[in-house]
Amino acid sequence: MKLYRTKKFLSVGVVGMILYTVMSATTTYANSSSDSVTGDGRKDTYVNGIVYQLSAEVVGLQKQAFVLAKLQLDNALKHPERYDKPLAIVTDVDQTIMSDTTYQATMMNKPGTWDNGPRKGYYHAVASTADQPIPGAVEFFNYAKSKGVTSFYITNRAYDTKELAVAQLQHFGFPDADDLHVMPMNEAREFNKDARRAEVAKNYDVILYLGDNISDFTSAFRKELGPINRTKLALSDTYEKKWGTEWIVLPNATYGDYIPTVWYNKPEANRNEATRELFHYWDYTNPQWNTWYDGFVKD
Ligand SMILES: [Mg+2]
Repeated sequence: MKLYRTKKFLSVGVVGMILYTVMSATTTYANSSSDSVTGDGRKDTYVNGIVYQLSAEVVGLQKQAFVLAKLQLDNALKHPERYDKPLAIVTDVDQTIMSDTTYQATMMNKPGTWDNGPRKGYYHAVASTADQPIPGAVEFFNYAKSKGVTSFYITNRAYDTKELAVAQLQHFGFPDADDLHVMPMNEAREFNKDARRAEVAKNYDVILYLGDNISDFTSAFRKELGPINRTKLALSDTYEKKWGTEWIVLPNATYGDYIPTVWYNKPEANRNEATRELFHYWDYTNPQWNTWYDGFVKD
């Protein structure tokens, strides 16, 4: 019996080794036969962003954002003398308090091209439990509610999906999720959120804005400024002090105004060229930079 077991073990082991070898060879072959994850060059540009968005590191950044938001909320509550009106928080929805990365991962596995759209099927994903709250979000907004602070959800989801947005936020336990406090785009599909922010500010002192896209905070970072000037503007006197105090930004490597900004001033056909230009700007060999130290530069 012992011998039989040993033989069986050996035979299973040998078969396993053969299978492992075959599978390894197949995997190696599959990897070397194609340098594309999706089979489409345009779609492939989103791959790392989606993988990053699904990482432990991003979960950490998301939790970190809500820890900071709570600190700033508590700080505001300590100074009621600074405010005349009831307090409010304005937040975006997608990739700020709800993750839609699962929709994009789905699109990566489907055949054909995709360039962060069309959004066909998007709201089916939103209506499923695959679209989950961002870690820390539900707890934060309920904490704000417990302190008497009202939340407004300003989202660029389509106007005719408002009912779904309200239901989704209620389903996952977000406070103030009702017809009044959930504010999608209007029928004219106005992307700019300034008017909706102004509407809230009529009756409330907004102590915090949360978003993953800079237009969740202000419309000043116009795409035509280009990526380099927008970066400089973020660190300008006007905006530098807003980060982490009034503005809490969540990571979104998968989409946002920052992507079309790269080629906004270029003809449609020159997206790759525009991206290469951006890389060249940051290339250390670009003549705009100079070497400040070369004592140990050997090669
Ligand atoms: Mg968003």
